[in-house]
Amino acid sequence: MSAPTVDHRGPEFAGLARRVLEALKPVFGTAGPVVVYPSSGTGAWEAALVNTLSPGDRVLCFETGHFATLWRDMAESLGLEVEFVPGDWRHGASPEAAAQRLDADISHDIKAVCVVHNETSTGVTSRVPEIRAALDAAGHPALLLVDTVSSLGSIEYRHDDWGVDVTVTGSQKGLMLPPGLGFNAVSDKALTAARTSRLPKSYWEWGPILDANEAGFFPSTPATNLLYGLDEALLMLAEEGLEQVWARHARHAAATRAAVRGWGLEVLCADEREHSGSLTAVLLADGQDADAVRKIVLERFDMSLGTGLGRLAGKVFRIGHLGHFNDLTLAGTLAGVQMGLELAGIPVGRDGIAAALDHLRVD
Ligand code: PLP
Repeated sequence: MSAPTVDHRGPEFAGLARRVLEALKPVFGTAGPVVVYPSSGTGAWEAALVNTLSPGDRVLCFETGHFATLWRDMAESLGLEVEFVPGDWRHGASPEAAAQRLDADISHDIKAVCVVHNETSTGVTSRVPEIRAALDAAGHPALLLVDTVSSLGSIEYRHDDWGVDVTVTGSQKGLMLPPGLGFNAVSDKALTAARTSRLPKSYWEWGPILDANEAGFFPSTPATNLLYGLDEALLMLAEEGLEQVWARHARHAAATRAAVRGWGLEVLCADEREHSGSLTAVLLADGQDADAVRKIVLERFDMSLGTGLGRLAGKVFRIGHLGHFNDLTLAGTLAGVQMGLELAGIPVGRDGIAAALDHLRVD
């Protein structure tokens, strides 16, 4: 990524762009196009909404945590009418609640269903295929928009097979890059919706970007050096194999949960089917301060744990185990957490690390 920046209108760039745009497809599990923006994930959220929807359209969203709440807020500020299915921040989007809302919507007023696949604030992974099944069972034509910011390239995900219309992600998690790229994988149905969608858009509009991409270019200046990094990250994922990447993260997640339980603490995710492969949120007891633990771990061991976001502030800390991560990085991470908990005066058994290592050794 620190190589000199090439001319983004020249032949060398066109080769890079074509290669990257093609190699992205298997990571999303799609044969269709992937739009790449110089943006964070939030920009890619906005792009998904403004390209497919019109002012006043109804959208169905699920309160799975902090990021689902932010996406809801964005949809409202763009002039959409959001039905926000309440949640307790310990479960994923409920397929039953989806089915109930969609079955009741006989006039098909709901134009899109928005799901955050992996809630980064809670470590809960929603069952997207079951939400798809709810749409199909209801015979409902709404688009399915899915945020995979903290799941793509870490947790099993299949845009085409799961019938997703727009998949949103960013560069800074499973793609192992610095922040600065946002992505939309787009189905034919979403492209058709884009032709009649009336939310205002200009920079985010898919059409001109996809047209320019045909020739290996972008309509405005791309994040060229991040694309160098993406080229390499996509090679790394292909070399390891996506299924192996997903299995590696699932295994590290299981070892982390073994550690949390060995410490006598609680995993925030309350449904065995929804444990995240990319991060684990640890819930402390009333009166225990998760941010005090984070501060000690940062100051003593130079390790930054995720903070509790929104209504979870001070109650949870989050252990990330996504991206370029191996058994020993996990063991080191868990050792830092165990020492931090002890130093914070939280009574934890010493069995946490042992349970995690047993898991890694045997499995
Ligand atoms: N969605 C999820 C699940 C996220 O975790 C994040 C950020 O962490 C976002 C959306 C927003 O992305 P960004 O902060 O890159 O704008």
